[in-house]
Amino acid sequence: MATATRVPFVPLTSCSIHRGNHKYCVAKSLISLPQTLTSLPPLIQQQRTNLKNGRLRRLAVVSLSSATANLNRSTVLVTGAGGRTGQIVYKKLKERSDQYVGRGLARTEESKEKIGGSDDVFVGDIRDADSILPAIQGIDALIILTSAVPKMKPGFDPSKGGRPEFYFEEGAYPEQVDWIGQKNQIDAAKAAGVKQIVLVGSMGGTDLNNPLNNIGNGKILVWKRKAEQYLADSGIPYTIIRAGGLQDKEGGIRELLVGKDDELLKTEMRTIARADVAEVCIQALQFEEAKFKALDLSSKPEGTGTPTKDFKALFSQVTSRF
Ligand code: NAP
Repeated sequence: MATATRVPFVPLTSCSIHRGNHKYCVAKSLISLPQTLTSLPPLIQQQRTNLKNGRLRRLAVVSLSSATANLNRSTVLVTGAGGRTGQIVYKKLKERSDQYVGRGLARTEESKEKIGGSDDVFVGDIRDADSILPAIQGIDALIILTSAVPKMKPGFDPSKGGRPEFYFEEGAYPEQVDWIGQKNQIDAAKAAGVKQIVLVGSMGGTDLNNPLNNIGNGKILVWKRKAEQYLADSGIPYTIIRAGGLQDKEGGIRELLVGKDDELLKTEMRTIARADVAEVCIQALQFEEAKFKALDLSSKPEGTGTPTKDFKALFSQVTSRF
């Protein structure tokens, strides 16, 4: 009985279980869902083999039914789920549980705890390909929000003016995280038959001399761009979102702007709320117009323009494949 409670209950509508004919109900489900059965999780397969036991038979009906309901939803993994944008994506997926079965990948147990520590958050390091396989198994779509994060050198005193200096920890340079780590995710997703990948990168990558490349001598935009190219060449339907400067502001209240080749960096509209980036990541899963596309993303200032609601139209404006 304990295992059955882990399966989300979905009310049965047309099943004869309500009339007490459990056996007929199960048989009908099995016959009409041959494809389904091959992809059912082990718990349900096991219950299927136990159908001769009258008590378990009823559990199997409930479980099969909920698995059937899951089939209509897309299982989506967000990596970097403990990060600032990743957290928002994870929360949005959970809020839209009618459409998505949300999963997260966090680097550490501490990061996992930041987003509630639920069982659907896996712990793995993207630099270690094997460690991320369990999270990727069985997903339909992957949203990549991992990134190398520079650290500030100690001793900086803002009251004395000047600029802080940054560094990357040994083994956590952009080459290892933004290139090898993203490549590991793309390879694992391809092997697992993932149907779509959304990758968040950064504007500025067309200019080797962009100051972001100098941070910690990490050439972060170069390595991000290499991963983006790898994704575009992978054959998997993809959406590459190159965000402008990220802000921790409310989402959904600004007009979003899409561009290409860093043209938006030459304007005053170079920033975007993390919540808006998160929303665009999820909306990209909804529309064919978002697939095989790469876009720069920023927004108009709040109070100017019309807040973006039509994401199909937004993606339709994008013409670049890279
Ligand atoms: P963030 O908070 O810096 O999160 C990065 C995430 O990557 C963290 O959750 C981190 O895990 C995870 N991570 C790092 N190394 C990992 C590893 N080896 N294995 C697994 N996970 C690892 O991200 P953000 O600021 O929301 O940015 C989202 C994306 O937008 C990034 O790609 C960023 O470069 C890009 N972007 C940023 C800006 C900006 O203004 N900051 C502008 C444009 C684009 P932990 O939580 O455990 O540390």
